[in-house]
Amino acid sequence: MNLVLFGPPGAGKGTQAKRLTQVLGIPQISTGDMMRAERASGSELGKQFDHYMSQGLLVPDELTLELLKKRLLEPDAAKGAIFDGYPRTVPQAEALDKLLAAQGRKIDRVVSIEVPLEEMIDRVVLRRTCERCGHIYHLRYNPPPSPDACGQCGGKLVQRKDDTEEVVRKRNDEYLAKTAPILGHYGKLGIVKTVSGIGSLDEVEARIKAAL
Ligand code: AMP
Repeated sequence: MNLVLFGPPGAGKGTQAKRLTQVLGIPQISTGDMMRAERASGSELGKQFDHYMSQGLLVPDELTLELLKKRLLEPDAAKGAIFDGYPRTVPQAEALDKLLAAQGRKIDRVVSIEVPLEEMIDRVVLRRTCERCGHIYHLRYNPPPSPDACGQCGGKLVQRKDDTEEVVRKRNDEYLAKTAPILGHYGKLGIVKTVSGIGSLDEVEARIKAAL
């Protein structure tokens, strides 16, 4: 199965994608995680990513597509994938369709997770991510056993640089202007299902599974 988890920043795409990898037995492909890893490596490409990410802007399509192409060729992605944070523009969606078609595959389902803006801000500002394993916590709704250490692997918990209210508002503007139109692209194919992202992690996961 090739699944796109769609939604604004803070909708819970990353958290739910990680849960679904266990259930579906296919990997999560998060261009955001890949860009953060590249940035952490200190490479020139990572610096270019940081220029956009730190302002809440989308990284240009050409740079993003290169990352995606490489990732799709890795063996674990051959049976399918959960796309989280990709595509974010209509040209990215078209490029993904082409890449998959070349392998005799297609996007089977797009699940759009809906969350109001004020809830998004609340979630993102209190979000903490494990530097080592990527596990995601929320200091109020899904707190780690200790505020600085990951309960899964003991790694250090950090706040993403772009998880501030100001940057989230900018990311939401980008989402509305450039990303939301993708629903029209997939809507024509009749593969979009919308679920509410409000409620416990288990409740949202159950809604997504029902939508598959
Ligand atoms: P995410 O981790 O998915 O919330 O992404 C964090 C940031 O990385 C975004 O605000 C963008 O700056 C950048 N980014 C991640 N994925 C993409 C993409 N598919 N296209 C453009 N920029 C992206």
